[in-house]
Amino acid sequence: MLTRGMSEHPKMACGVFAAIDFDKHPVFPLLYWGIRSQNHRGHQSHGFLTYDGEFHVHKALNLVPKIEKSEVEKWLAKLPGYIGVANVRYTTSGKTDHESLQKGTQPVKAEKDDLKLAVSFNGNVVNTRQLLKEIREVFPDFYYECDAELICRKLLMELLKERDLASAVKKCMEEIEGAFSVSGITGDGKFFAFKDPYGIRPLCAGHSENGKIYVFSSETVGLDINGLTLDFELEPGELVLVSEDGFKREKLVENGRAFCAFEFAYFARPDSRFDDKFVYEIREEFGRNLARENPDIVKDADIIVSMPETGNDAAYGLHEETGLRWERATRRHRFVTERAFILLPHERYRTIDKKINILADKIRGKRVIIVDDSIVRGDTTRVVVEKLRKMGAKKVYIFITFPRIIGPCFYGIDMATYGELIGSKHTPEEIAKIVGADAVRYQSIEGFVRATGLKREELCLGCITRKYPTRLAQKLADEMYKKFVRGCKETGRIYEVTNLGDELAKSLRSSKC
Ligand code: SF4
Repeated sequence: MLTRGMSEHPKMACGVFAAIDFDKHPVFPLLYWGIRSQNHRGHQSHGFLTYDGEFHVHKALNLVPKIEKSEVEKWLAKLPGYIGVANVRYTTSGKTDHESLQKGTQPVKAEKDDLKLAVSFNGNVVNTRQLLKEIREVFPDFYYECDAELICRKLLMELLKERDLASAVKKCMEEIEGAFSVSGITGDGKFFAFKDPYGIRPLCAGHSENGKIYVFSSETVGLDINGLTLDFELEPGELVLVSEDGFKREKLVENGRAFCAFEFAYFARPDSRFDDKFVYEIREEFGRNLARENPDIVKDADIIVSMPETGNDAAYGLHEETGLRWERATRRHRFVTERAFILLPHERYRTIDKKINILADKIRGKRVIIVDDSIVRGDTTRVVVEKLRKMGAKKVYIFITFPRIIGPCFYGIDMATYGELIGSKHTPEEIAKIVGADAVRYQSIEGFVRATGLKREELCLGCITRKYPTRLAQKLADEMYKKFVRGCKETGRIYEVTNLGDELAKSLRSSKC
């Protein structure tokens, strides 16, 4: 499994950027930069939707391209409007053929009777079966390629009934299970954003100096690149409406918070902020924690080497705490993006060579601590260790900032089955043997949580504890785990299985295995 990106690292589902300009200037340039700064959150497709009384849409596959000035002018002409929503996407559910990816590109829109709606979304819906059933009663031919369409239809249906945005959003928060950070535009020009009751995915709000532009962005880097000021991170279960007077915030559902812990270790850009802390500062603390938690290895090591980019900040923290030299012996091949790889079949485990240059002269004869953010399948870690050994490393220790991943994610990260996770089957000692390292050490959950500045109960730690914040996800995780420990073959990605809803429970119960 986990073959979509041919990568060790799991993929994010989406990034959102949305804007309104009360001076009625076109928002497309803001959307373009806001979403381009967040291309790390999804690189399979991108899309823009603007509003000037009508919706205008442009969607394409791949990374947000560099656009020539002449192209920008063409796009501006195609995308007029002073309100807009944009999205970058990596699919964690649904099909991945070219046509499906194109269809599943966001933003999405829907209309019925006199109502129209467009949304851009980040997250993943868990109770898809139940929602589909309900939606098809109103839209019998409804077929969907991405969860944004489920959210958009459900919200439209509730708007048709309630005729009030806050009541409709509240219904969605109560009846949709999963992670959803959403920004949208109604057919009559209301601009809004909301988060699921646990606030699993990020979404922040900001404004321009002249008080005319208001935006929502998955990460604060979307604001920085546009020269905007951060106002706040949306609360779980909160709806935010925008008018010329600014943001109107309304907490619709009270549930606590379960923010995705993995955002801090891997997904978010280091220069993004959550709750007034930069992600890179948190990652530096991860490195200091790893030093404190593993004095035996620190004592034995000569140098620290980081896996770029997400290992760099932790390596710096480790260096600060220990005084060990952080040898910058791994460098990314610039302008080589994952999607640009052309790999021969026998090269499929050598993606590391295409991405990272490791400098043998700096490794030879050394006892090396490698710092990385996570281990999912272990394939890349094994290749890196093998490479370092060939280069003459005397010892190879692996320090991992994210605690051992032992369960799937139901909320928009591409880790779907127990079987694909090396950590769900093996202890750190066994993993060290498998990947050929002298030791593999994960940061403790306690250390990780402390470094984020959040309380344990404010984080989703589902994939590292098997305790999930939402009910159906927990049920699925438990059912799947029972089968997994009995040695049953996992027949599909959990999202596809999830789509079976009640049938899942039935099939799990009736299975001989
Ligand atoms: S299960 Fe893991 S990856 Fe998924 S939302 Fe929770 S912490 Fe994040």
